[in-house]
Amino acid sequence: MGTAIFPGSFDPYTKGHHDIVTRGLALFDKIIIAIGHNSRKNTRYFDLDKMISMIDATYENEDRVSTITYNELTATLASTHKAKFLLRGLRNTTDFEYENSIAQINSNLNPSLDSVFLITSPEFAYINSTIIREVHKYGGDISAYLPYDSSSI
Ligand code: ADP
Repeated sequence: MGTAIFPGSFDPYTKGHHDIVTRGLALFDKIIIAIGHNSRKNTRYFDLDKMISMIDATYENEDRVSTITYNELTATLASTHKAKFLLRGLRNTTDFEYENSIAQINSNLNPSLDSVFLITSPEFAYINSTIIREVHKYGGDISAYLPYDSSSI
């Protein structure tokens, strides 16, 4: 089914994200993990370069996955990479409400773009980057939630 963009903040990239990409590889020839980032307004908690290295390390044996950063409309990024699909994960009804609006807007911006949603595997459904940042900030162990070595980020 060609190329899909998997866009997000990935601050940090979690086992939940990894699950979506792994399952997405059964649907798409290529998946581009696209980290949305505004270099002039650095609001990230985890270091961007370290996060890219850890995502790349996670997929070092999978040449169908690549990682990029971007600072433009996701719909424009998809056209540039000739990707006809956006891959997103759905955990719950809160995700659904939000994703539904974004998907409509993205298809208005780029009518040849379709959003494809995978329902989260139950064992990862509770994993949330915002909560992981909070746990890390106060010295808690986050290693169980990440698909790579947590001491490297
Ligand atoms: P955003 O800032 O765009 O919400 P995130 O990095 O939080 O970016 O998430 C990127 C995508 O991954 C979204 O589609 C989100 O719903 C999905 N996602 C986040 N956490 C999980 C999880 N635990 N399991 C499956 N999908 C998830």
